[in-house]
Amino acid sequence: QTPIERKPEWIKTRAKLGPEYRELHSLVKREGLHTVCQEAGCPNIFECWEDREATFLIGGEQCTRRCDFCQIDTGRPAELDRDEPRRVAESVRQMELRYATVTGVARDDLPDGGAWLYAETVRQIHGLMPDTGVELLIPDFNAVPEQLAEVFSARPEVLAHNVETVPRIFKRIRPAFRYERSMSVLTRAREEGLVTKSNLILGLGETREEVSQALRDMHAAGCELITITQYLRPSPRHHPVERWVKPAEFVELREEAEEVGFSGVMSGPMVRSSYRAGRLYQQAVAQ
Ligand code: SF4
Ligand code: SF4
Repeated sequence: QTPIERKPEWIKTRAKLGPEYRELHSLVKREGLHTVCQEAGCPNIFECWEDREATFLIGGEQCTRRCDFCQIDTGRPAELDRDEPRRVAESVRQMELRYATVTGVARDDLPDGGAWLYAETVRQIHGLMPDTGVELLIPDFNAVPEQLAEVFSARPEVLAHNVETVPRIFKRIRPAFRYERSMSVLTRAREEGLVTKSNLILGLGETREEVSQALRDMHAAGCELITITQYLRPSPRHHPVERWVKPAEFVELREEAEEVGFSGVMSGPMVRSSYRAGRLYQQAVAQ
């Protein structure tokens, strides 16, 4: 390991096993449920599950795109599983979640880009669990208006689309996405009256000034909630970690994002885009 690969001491969480976490953990095991929280080994699981919040992945395990920070495999996806939305909703019900984040792979192989799948999952959760908030984290659907309209019509409590990085290095990090196109997805969602959210990953080679500019761009595009996170390299085949952002800089960035006008900000070395998502949403709607 080169020195930059070594994680600094602030990259750590404490395992605090609360009663809600314990209950969910045994339920998930007993019922054979699948969550991103467990399957990605997310270190925030003790906190999120204690709040009855969890994340699900839809669309299968193969993505049609390849982003240089993402641990999901690129390849030919399996056939569309039309029963998946029902099963995810059933998991949310069994887990009695207060807030569920649903994300998935890009399905450029499907004629509708997977729009039905994303929308139907929100509809099924809302149908079974009317009081559970749903945050839908989407790919960009190539900004095809009909596909976005289908997804937005499901009315998730939060519509998230992650920009992830700054324009100068965007193409290298997310070759199948475009910075401006991602901005337009956020703008359309906001125009539809949805609460919008995005994420920036730090440590991919961006400069501090570029981060400030991206925050202003996202806010101007209509993004209301933001998470700012540290990049962790999933494997040596992925983009190297260019820097470890110090906790104090994350605090500064939170203040800066609030000044720019975001109504809710989560910023920190261990933050993920779905970290305490329900709490962030409530904070924003309470304003
Ligand atoms: Fe990962 Fe999403 Fe990029 Fe696919 S589109 S590689 S799931 S970040
Ligand atoms: Fe699950 Fe997201 Fe929380 Fe991690 S941050 S435990 S993936 S909800």
